[in-house]
Amino acid sequence: MKIGTIASHSALNIVSGARIEGFETILFCPPERKDFYASFGFENSLAIIDSFDEVLDMSPENIIMVPHGSFVAYIGAEKLIKSELKIFGSRKLMQWEADRNLKSKLLKNSGLKVPRELISIDDIDCPVIAKTHGAAGGKGYFIAKNRDDAYRNMQPGVEYVFQEYIVGTKVFVTYFHSLARDRLEIFGADIRYETDADANLRFDAQPSFVVVGNIPLVLRESTLARYFEIGKSFVKGFKELTGGVIPGPFCIETIIDRNMEIYSFEFSGRIVAGTNIWMPYSPYSFITHQEKMWMGRRIAREIRELLDKNLLDEALL
Ligand code: AMP
Ligand code: AMP
Repeated sequence: MKIGTIASHSALNIVSGARIEGFETILFCPPERKDFYASFGFENSLAIIDSFDEVLDMSPENIIMVPHGSFVAYIGAEKLIKSELKIFGSRKLMQWEADRNLKSKLLKNSGLKVPRELISIDDIDCPVIAKTHGAAGGKGYFIAKNRDDAYRNMQPGVEYVFQEYIVGTKVFVTYFHSLARDRLEIFGADIRYETDADANLRFDAQPSFVVVGNIPLVLRESTLARYFEIGKSFVKGFKELTGGVIPGPFCIETIIDRNMEIYSFEFSGRIVAGTNIWMPYSPYSFITHQEKMWMGRRIAREIRELLDKNLLDEALL
């Protein structure tokens, strides 16, 4: 059995982790990135493809695909969900993640505090962030102080969702829900750095929320304990709403305000690039595992344990 992924986002994390756990790996790579991935010693794993879509035609027989942010960005959630690939993770969760309405329903039903959503522009009574549907990387978002400001910034023909703008610190917490060990592990925390929302704007312009990278964060321990409860509630909420389980990695994206209120505005039901910081380990994964444990390795370890217990099908959903 091979572990495979596409060459971007967190591929170094996933492939290095699978290798150290003794798996053969396959990295689907566009020709222009061949030298880059070969420079890390991955040349024997490379399968050169001209378009990421080509992975959909691969024989799924002996490859377990580990999905990451580039799968949805370059292939699309719909095509992935329909494909015959063996995907480590939950297609159902992917579906809920791809739909803004389902996404907020899941966060709310899990008992998490979410930013208020304004159904229409005329309901705006506070500073808001306007989000476009299915946006990748915050493209087309704008912020507005009030309703008039929102009207001024709207682009014609674009559909927006308006959310209360929360002033605070962005905190992204990653988890691993192990089916093999029947437990939730808190994995790490980071701050997503966005240009130029996180840079010091020198003039009054709309910020952009394009992701540049991630910065490590170690939370107050009392706050970390609250995030553990948030993770548990999310797993439980998903089960109650859909009957499904969440296999493996997920991330809850939050903002903590000055009163230490935690607002959850997003989630990802898969490995996130913020875990790339925590190679070879995070403080938390080291305490849990007492060895170097990064997310790519943790996924491979889980696949191995599920294979041994004959339970892998439960995590390929
Ligand atoms: P890339 O392959 O870098 O173009 O990324 C693929 C998708 O994942 C894009 O939608 C990116 O916005 C997203 N992405 C890449 N890196 C990160 C990151 N560090 N945090 C959040 N999203 C990311
Ligand atoms: P999203 O596409 O929902 O992940 O949002 C992209 C970025 O917009 C986040 O990383 C935050 O910087 C910002 N953002 C999203 N929602 C809110 C909110 N309700 N209040 C303040 N900032 C937000």
